[in-house]
Amino acid sequence: MDIWIYVNHREDEIEETTFGLTTEARRLLNECDQPGRITGVALGPVSAPVLESLGRYGVERVLHINADGMARYQGEVYAQALAGTVQKESPACLLMAQTAETEDLAQRVAASCDTALVTKAMDFNLTAEGKALAIRPVANGYLFEDLELDASPAPIVLFLPAVLLDTVPTQETTASVSQVPFQLAADDLQTRTVEVIEAAPEDLDLEEADIIVAAGRGIGKGEAFGNVQALAKAIGGSVGATRPIIDWGLVEYERQIGQTGKYVAPRLIINLGISGANEYTAGMEKAQQVIAIDRNPRVRMFRFADLGVVGDVHEILPLLISRIEEHK
Ligand SMILES: Cc1cc2nc3c(=O)[nH]c(=O)nc-3n(C[C@H](O)[C@H](O)[C@H](O)COP(=O)(O)OP(=O)(O)OC[C@H]3O[C@@H](n4cnc5c(N)ncnc54)[C@H](O)[C@@H]3O)c2cc1C
Repeated sequence: MDIWIYVNHREDEIEETTFGLTTEARRLLNECDQPGRITGVALGPVSAPVLESLGRYGVERVLHINADGMARYQGEVYAQALAGTVQKESPACLLMAQTAETEDLAQRVAASCDTALVTKAMDFNLTAEGKALAIRPVANGYLFEDLELDASPAPIVLFLPAVLLDTVPTQETTASVSQVPFQLAADDLQTRTVEVIEAAPEDLDLEEADIIVAAGRGIGKGEAFGNVQALAKAIGGSVGATRPIIDWGLVEYERQIGQTGKYVAPRLIINLGISGANEYTAGMEKAQQVIAIDRNPRVRMFRFADLGVVGDVHEILPLLISRIEEHK
């Protein structure tokens, strides 16, 4: 049995969630009680030593595809490269950590390979009867659904990053890296990237953001949300939120942090009027520095804070913004 994992990488470093996928792949191999291996598949520019290091997490081999037009993510090109390799090798399944990019890629590959796709998976299993089972949240996490899918052709499973465990290396081996040839004729493309436009920091995808200003129910439904956006703008941060804020319609679902939202790892996150429910903190535990402002000194959020401020956000925010503007 060959379990494939998709290698997320940025600036020649493998992202943590990929290591979490190796844990899931090892679990699947153990449960199936059959001889097997884990194969990593990496697209775009990343160096061989970095890919070889996946051997320490139990990955036996890595298939690396890097050709013209793959310097950065382009859905059509990446999907053709990946779908071709999946069809040629027929793995048991392809596991990915869910990001904006893999969400786009997986849909394209699933359509090309005419196979099942599970998004936001919290659990995934292969059965001896040739079926695959998955669990995922629906209705924004209020309900869960059990899915049964055909295990052939290889299903594609996008795991919620929050459920992927922190994983440490277990062995001192290196993975063998094979370069997979791929050439795409420009004529084959239906789309072409003409320009890449950088987003303003406050609109930046939360997963890419260095600084996040996150609003919770304590901000209220009124005008104070404008102050959250103003603070984000003043410090070059992106706006995030807890589920109540999304349910109120103050920002779109893409801005929800947590178990059923985005999984973020900024250098700094400022939490405003957020109590720190498990489902929220699961999505921000990887933040390097945490500031929390809440009027209740006993809230769980303060356990995560490097700097905790007890007070009313409606009083503190305008003062904070004007002090930042003064110092600029
Ligand atoms: C299956 C499931 C999945 C979920 N997934 C997510 C998820 O992905 N993301 C998510 O966020 N939630 C999720 N939730 C909901 C989660 O359990 C919490 O209900 C939610 O995170 C609470 O959001 P909050 O901290 O904004 O609100 P609250 O818990 O109500 O906290 C509000 C805070 O604001 C403070 N406050 C009030 N007024 C002020 C003021 N004037 N100044 C300062 N502080 C003030 C209060 O003291 C309190 O600490 C999920 C729940 C379930 C059951």
